[in-house]
Amino acid sequence: MSITCDCLIIGGGIAGIGLAAHLGAERSTVVLEMEDAPGRHATGRSAAIFIRNYGNATLRALNDASVEVLGGGGAFAETGFLAPRGELVVARPEEMERFAAYLDGAEGLEQISVAEAMRLFPILSGDHVAAAYEAGAADIDVDRLLQAYLRAARHAGSRLVTSARVSAISRKGGVWRVEAGGETYEAQVVVNAAGAWADTVAGLAGLSPLGIQPYRRSAAILPAPAGLDVSAWPAVVSASEAWYAKPEAGKLLVSPADEDPLPPQDAWPDDMVLAEGLDRFEKATTVAVTRVERSWAGLRSFAPDRTPVAGFSGAAEGFVWLAGQGGYGIQTSPALSRLAADLILERAPVLAPAVVVALAPGRLGG
Ligand SMILES: Cc1cc2nc3c(=O)[nH]c(=O)nc-3n(C[C@H](O)[C@H](O)[C@H](O)COP(=O)(O)OP(=O)(O)OC[C@H]3O[C@@H](n4cnc5c(N)ncnc54)[C@H](O)[C@@H]3O)c2cc1C
Repeated sequence: MSITCDCLIIGGGIAGIGLAAHLGAERSTVVLEMEDAPGRHATGRSAAIFIRNYGNATLRALNDASVEVLGGGGAFAETGFLAPRGELVVARPEEMERFAAYLDGAEGLEQISVAEAMRLFPILSGDHVAAAYEAGAADIDVDRLLQAYLRAARHAGSRLVTSARVSAISRKGGVWRVEAGGETYEAQVVVNAAGAWADTVAGLAGLSPLGIQPYRRSAAILPAPAGLDVSAWPAVVSASEAWYAKPEAGKLLVSPADEDPLPPQDAWPDDMVLAEGLDRFEKATTVAVTRVERSWAGLRSFAPDRTPVAGFSGAAEGFVWLAGQGGYGIQTSPALSRLAADLILERAPVLAPAVVVALAPGRLGG
């Protein structure tokens, strides 16, 4: 006996669960997640920052379209998911070209003096020559956002099935048939929200890959520098993205901002990559790294044009892509989930038509 529903979402990360929440009760929905809990991969490993000026023009449109829900203005929570943090971009002489590129077209990002930057981030080394500050950058409470999406999805009657790895996908008589966790599911619409595994899942359905490549990104938690209260420091990124840091529960999260291509997998940090990144952080600050309390890595998955892929495939009826969110998948989840829901429910998308086109899989032949 197969389990039937209108919409089958493959992947229980922020993308899949967010979509289930946005679909509401208008479609019977099942989310299939191969792990024993949602959010185990990229979603549970992020740096949890909202930065309005992060990413290309399409991503900035998604960031803008997401801020209301993240701020608590949507139907998902009484209070928002953002806490003020601010982001400081700092440049040494050799980073000035990248600094200018970062400022180009940015909104709400103000150039400030290096002295002011050192006041905000007292461990900055003295060889920096330029700085800019985005006051609106914020910490995202990712777990609460995921739980809020889950609650909304359950309230609308959706089901999340964990320990259900999708192993086969076929289509017959206008219906998708999906094998997962010893069950067979049937649905009119299948959504590929499988994160780093998006091209693998497309392959199961007989579709060509779009070239969605996972890249490892690592992070380490360091004790706060002796005698300093870091809790009000902003997030800080070097203009060439050689490292970034942000306060994390009274300690410092430091990332080498690494981007090494890997096959989809349960990622872990490479010791050498982490050590080299921490060395770059040490050289840009007055801090000596003596102890790493813990570290982790996750995969940020990008399409070749570094823009997410959201929309119906032109290659197979009833197949929706919701993938390639790169390093922006948490902060853009309200807008991307809403778009995918609008398309599935045959509503006019809230996003501008040019943004919808820029996200469509057709641009990559999908
Ligand atoms: C270190 C790091 C820092 C980041 N920082 C930020 C940040 O500050 N802000 C931000 O907005 N974004 C950030 N990101 C990016 C963000 O985490 C991702 O863009 C986002 O989590 C992607 O969500 P997803 O649901 O597409 O993927 P995932 O969370 O990876 O979910 C995909 C799910 O699909 C499941 N799956 C795969 N194949 C199958 C199958 N065959 N059957 C069933 N299930 C399957 C997986 O188990 C997984 O749970 C960061 C990422 C990393 C790694």
